[in-house]
Amino acid sequence: MYDAKAYSASAAKAPLAPTTIQRRDVGERDVRLDVLYCGICHSDLHQVKDDFGGAGFPMVPGHEIVGKVTRVGAKVTKFKEGDIAAVGCLVDSDRTCSECKSGFEQFCANRVLVFNSPDELLGGQTYGGFSESMVVDEDFVLRVPSKLDLAAAAPLLCAGVTVYSPLRYWKIGKGSKVGVVGLGGLGHLAVKFAHALGAHVAVLTTSARKKDDALRLGAEEVIVSTDTEAMKKQAGSFDFILDTVSGEHDVNALLQLARRDGSVVVVGLPPKPMPIGAFPLVAGRKHLSGSNIGGIAETQEMLDFAAEHGITADVEVLPIQKVNEAFDRLERGDVKYRFVLDMRPLKST
Ligand code: NAP
Ligand code: ZN
Repeated sequence: MYDAKAYSASAAKAPLAPTTIQRRDVGERDVRLDVLYCGICHSDLHQVKDDFGGAGFPMVPGHEIVGKVTRVGAKVTKFKEGDIAAVGCLVDSDRTCSECKSGFEQFCANRVLVFNSPDELLGGQTYGGFSESMVVDEDFVLRVPSKLDLAAAAPLLCAGVTVYSPLRYWKIGKGSKVGVVGLGGLGHLAVKFAHALGAHVAVLTTSARKKDDALRLGAEEVIVSTDTEAMKKQAGSFDFILDTVSGEHDVNALLQLARRDGSVVVVGLPPKPMPIGAFPLVAGRKHLSGSNIGGIAETQEMLDFAAEHGITADVEVLPIQKVNEAFDRLERGDVKYRFVLDMRPLKST
């Protein structure tokens, strides 16, 4: 075990504060990395507010991690000291169940999340990327293509794969009309990926001021979702709608926008259950589905696709010391379009 500096929340809604945590020593198959950048996902905010209930404290959030390898175990084959590497939401799984064998580690009943999962080696719970360094099994460490800007690549590790995975599963491409609901961290990457896949992209937003950004990011159309006339005009026209909204909203209105047999796929995690009317669902045989991050192989595929198509997040980089300011602004919707924490200043404190 060794000590590592980190930022943690001591209780639900408490501001994050500097602390020292324990990390395990590097095992045979482990990679130790110094964290360079860590994105702030709305899921980090949900968790520090304990929006879903049952969160454990003290909590060290952070699951969009890019770092530099400083040490590798004797049996590590994919990484060497000095490599740039990345870690997302997952740091382990049982590797034996049918989900793991199919590349769906995110659905493994014994998956270990990078933070807030039981830590079987050290006791307590796992600690995430708001920390100077971490130790992760090499099978859960991703390669970062050298073309990618490191700070802007960090959000790909959660936001990127969360939107890429359903776009691929629903075979989005040329000829698809895609709606992206909510232009935040996930939404702006969904626009970029869907555009790169050749789809016609429309953004559905509550914020009319985001129109120019949506068009710049690759959308062909912008619909202000509070404008009932504009929504009516789009009824029955979408093949696929990706709902990235973090708060309470009306999914029935989205079902009405889908064409016959079209899909509304929920990735946003509003804490309260969302009422679904039977009529908007049965009329037009609509599909309502969900999706959760992506497996390890798919995350690597997404990073390689991002490098090939020049896709990274639009980021505002702040030093870790400003993490509470970033959380406050994310909660107020004041973010274009992802905060990324520069973790390097933690080393010198
Ligand atoms: P974000 O940056 O805060 O973006 C969310 C966007 O949703 C906002 O920018 C806003 O867009 C819209 N919005 C927020 N509240 C709304 C409301 N009450 N009604 C309508 N629109 C609203 O958050 P994010 O990091 O992209 O995360 C989005 C959600 O996905 C969160 O709930 C997060 O926990 C979840 N998530 C899920 C997964 C998964 O695997 N399923 C992975 C990562 C994150 P406009 O201003 O354009 O309306
Ligand atoms: Zn996330």
